Amino acid sequence: MDRSTKIVATIGPASSDLATLTRMVCAGVNVVRLNFSHGKAQDHSDRARLVREAAADCGCEVAIMADLQGPKIRVGKFEHGKILLEAGAKFVLDAECELGNEQQVGLDYKELPRDLKPGDILLLNDGLIVLVVDAVVGSAIHTTVKIGGELSNNKGINRQGGGLSAPALTAKDMEDIKTAVALGADYIAVSFPKNASDMIMARQLANIAGEPQQRKLLMIAKIERAEAIPLLQEILDASDGIMVARGDLAVEVGNAAVPALQKRMIKMARASNKLAITATQMMESMIVNAVPTRAEVSDVANAVLDGTDAVMASAETASGKYPVETVEAMAAICLEAEKADVCKLDTDFLNASFSRIDQSIAYGALFTAYHLRVKAIVALTESGSTTLWMSRHSIDIPIYALTPSIATLRKSALYRNVRSFELVQSGESKDVLQAAQNLLLEKHVVRPGDLIVVTWGEPMGQIGGTNSLKIVKVGAH
Ligand code: PGA
Ligand code: MN
Repeated sequence: MDRSTKIVATIGPASSDLATLTRMVCAGVNVVRLNFSHGKAQDHSDRARLVREAAADCGCEVAIMADLQGPKIRVGKFEHGKILLEAGAKFVLDAECELGNEQQVGLDYKELPRDLKPGDILLLNDGLIVLVVDAVVGSAIHTTVKIGGELSNNKGINRQGGGLSAPALTAKDMEDIKTAVALGADYIAVSFPKNASDMIMARQLANIAGEPQQRKLLMIAKIERAEAIPLLQEILDASDGIMVARGDLAVEVGNAAVPALQKRMIKMARASNKLAITATQMMESMIVNAVPTRAEVSDVANAVLDGTDAVMASAETASGKYPVETVEAMAAICLEAEKADVCKLDTDFLNASFSRIDQSIAYGALFTAYHLRVKAIVALTESGSTTLWMSRHSIDIPIYALTPSIATLRKSALYRNVRSFELVQSGESKDVLQAAQNLLLEKHVVRPGDLIVVTWGEPMGQIGGTNSLKIVKVGAH
């Protein structure tokens, strides 16, 4: 059986040529992340086109995730590009300041002084520099450097404990949502959502932009603010999935709190029938080295054991020296970790009551497949929701989504333990069932005589119509 856990790779200068991208996709990238914090709309559209080309070359479907910049607060630029801050020194942040120096620097968020009070701790450059707020005077935030270091142009600022009032969607994000829809993205990742409303708003904008082509993108909430943690359930309910965005999250909640939060978030996502991506610094040392550290290997493996849908690479594949090797390493680690995961169908759903027929069929298929030890679970699906429900429970039997919808094929690229193939579904169900078996035989995922569990909707071709389950011996008519 091949790898179940999916790989999200951010692309950037190190990976935006067709040859590299093709090698990355063939090495196992399932989802490409376009980082809207960098580059122009045209760059993203060009990259999206390359992704589709690379996927076609590798003969697989890849999802595209547009990651919005969000209200990341940053310092301005310095006269000489960077400064060195000494511990104990005084330093001022002031939106009015044009060009920074050793004493002060500008800010791209004018409201920041209103959110701060003396004693607050500001973390710059992912927490490498720590400032304590002494006083706020007009637009100027006076601080004392607690931990110094080099500070260069446009580095990010977080407040320890969170609580900055910036709304999740900036004017730029709203424009970028339109760009994302236009370039054919499948997912939108929303940065710094504070609550469910931020996600609802982003979804509405994406739905409006997608309306003419009847496209609905899936929404991923990046959990990277302290105040999102107590609201996790409502954020999950308003989203299709979450990203454990460990970079900013660690700065806001303290890095020691992140591993336990990661486990809780992934568990909650699965229990809510939502997706989970584990992100940031997973293979950090591979930005410069051809092999990961032992700790990185364990980190990826542990995310797999936590039940994540996907592990993500950021700078490793966007600007690092070894983008292809990073993907190869991640793929190999996932595969091994999955073997070690003593797989027992988690039967949480046995005590649940279902209101939906399609959902009951999905769980019936899981139960049957597990106990009969079949070769594969096969869902003839339009929207992919049957396979999403199935894939929220761990089972060591592969799930195949056979769908006529390209959108569903691409979206399911992120679902753990789901592989999908295109299959037109019209006519009599017995003919479609035979076509499904032929396709799986052709793809070498089953052999004549294998038992499979198949779900479908009768009559064929309707969304949400799954109402049938059959145990089929492959090859038998
Ligand atoms: P970013 O988000 O890479 O866009 O900052 C991920 C994170 O914060 O971990
Ligand atoms: Mn972030």
